[in-house]
Amino acid sequence: MAERRGDREGGLTRRRLIGGAAAGAAGYAAGTVPGAAAAGRRRKVDVVVVGAGLAGLSAARRLRAKGRSVAVLEARGRVGGRTLNFELGGGKVVEIGGQWVGPTQDRVLKLIDKLGLKTFPTYNSGENVYYRSDAAQKLTTYTGAIPPASGPSLVELAVFLGKLNSMAQEVPLDRPWDAAKAEEWDGQTFETFKLANTTVDEARDLIDLSIGAIFAAESRDLSLLYVLFYIRSGGSFDNLINVAGGAQESRVLGGSQKISLRLAKGLGRSLVLGAPVVRIDHDRGGVEVLTTKGTWRAKRVIVSVPPTLAGQIHYKPELPALRSQLTQRVPMGSVIKCLALYDRPFWREDGLTGQATSDIGATRVTFDNTPPSGTPGILLGFIEGRQARIWGSRSRNARRAAVISDFVRYFGSGAAHPRHYIEKSWAEERWSGGCYEGYMPPGVLLDYGEALRRPVQRIHWAGTETATLWAGYMDGAIQSGYRAAAEVLEAL
Ligand code: FAD
Repeated sequence: MAERRGDREGGLTRRRLIGGAAAGAAGYAAGTVPGAAAAGRRRKVDVVVVGAGLAGLSAARRLRAKGRSVAVLEARGRVGGRTLNFELGGGKVVEIGGQWVGPTQDRVLKLIDKLGLKTFPTYNSGENVYYRSDAAQKLTTYTGAIPPASGPSLVELAVFLGKLNSMAQEVPLDRPWDAAKAEEWDGQTFETFKLANTTVDEARDLIDLSIGAIFAAESRDLSLLYVLFYIRSGGSFDNLINVAGGAQESRVLGGSQKISLRLAKGLGRSLVLGAPVVRIDHDRGGVEVLTTKGTWRAKRVIVSVPPTLAGQIHYKPELPALRSQLTQRVPMGSVIKCLALYDRPFWREDGLTGQATSDIGATRVTFDNTPPSGTPGILLGFIEGRQARIWGSRSRNARRAAVISDFVRYFGSGAAHPRHYIEKSWAEERWSGGCYEGYMPPGVLLDYGEALRRPVQRIHWAGTETATLWAGYMDGAIQSGYRAAAEVLEAL
């Protein structure tokens, strides 16, 4: 697949987004997608898959393995969706989308292995940095997962997280809306629950920080039931936030987008890039999927895009009200992924992991994202939730200054002059609409959850938002693709 020069991602001499073509990572500008009057030939396959992210590609692989003909129609000029490699030169890459995998993410780990790819551990040696703006000693270091917060906040945090983990066990993974306390839990935001069950500011700030890191959203945005479902889906709260033994434990050698690039290779001409699906006509005889590159007829279609983007496709006849309204109620998170490149990972020489957490600043969570070869040294910071909403409308230069000043605050003056700065604001991506995932505010799981996976006649739904295990993650995307493929195979 062709490569494409990056646009706003940084000042590298060889800046490239991998796997791109004409339409590229920026996709089509909002409003420029032509309407239903798509021209071109009419092709026939067994199954059309909308979207070439991990969900769509996994579904297509399963269907082809069972001898079914497929067409994967992808809006962007590249595959991988919310995963995206950035080439650093010399064969090195870094991810500007989803990247980590960890224990119990069995589907993605197995697929990585099957595709002949390898993982390597996230750099996690030494001490983490904890910054607390109202403490006598603002900056402290620590090892392990628990920051050196005050005694009362640590006690409160332990009780609160224990409570969350045990409540999560009461949420059925495939039907969270059937939990005994579903109405009570979906009738409040996570913020309400946090305020009712904590009193110490520092504990509350640490909870909010974790919520931001997991959802790229604020505690007030999320339904308590949805957070509990998400915790159960990933195993435990600790699994979601931890590096060692958790979701951030490992990275994919060559970058996570390589999984999709390898899957795409096997598809050959069944994959069509730069083909946004604008309309799906469906009746008892089959489906007709209209794109800007022509029309495909099939027996079934799998729509593997986030719910909110699925709602932007026209359907004829219209979708049932419940499904249509669901797509109006699953907003995408807000995140800007920021990377600063240095000659070497200087913080390692100071005995630091590169991981920092802070109660202030644009970037409040950081990681060492250096390639396994050890150079260049890369600090990764996330601007998440409210901060992403604020900083997203400021200039790139202002954001760069804020991010670098945060890095200096955490890691010292060595961070002041990066060789390069790269950033990716996922809310600006036409074909993602935000990240890490579509989340649910109060009332959505309870009243609309049934419509999340239930097929509408010949239309099946995939995408990480529809997963029961590791929903929101790459692993969940793959699970959803396999599940949708199984539904279709059974129906065929
Ligand atoms: P997508 O990747 O969104 O795929 C959907 C595809 O459909 C896209 O390619 C899109 O272009 C296409 N599409 C949309 N509309 C149309 C249309 N109308 N017609 C045709 N095509 C269309 N997950 C992890 O597991 N670990 C992490 O560390 C992690 N970190 C993340 C960090 C960031 C910054 C981001 C952005 C995401 C992160 N995630 C992480 C989440 C992870 O990337 C996603 O869960 C996963 O990639 C979703 O895959 P998907 O196939 O469900 O959806």
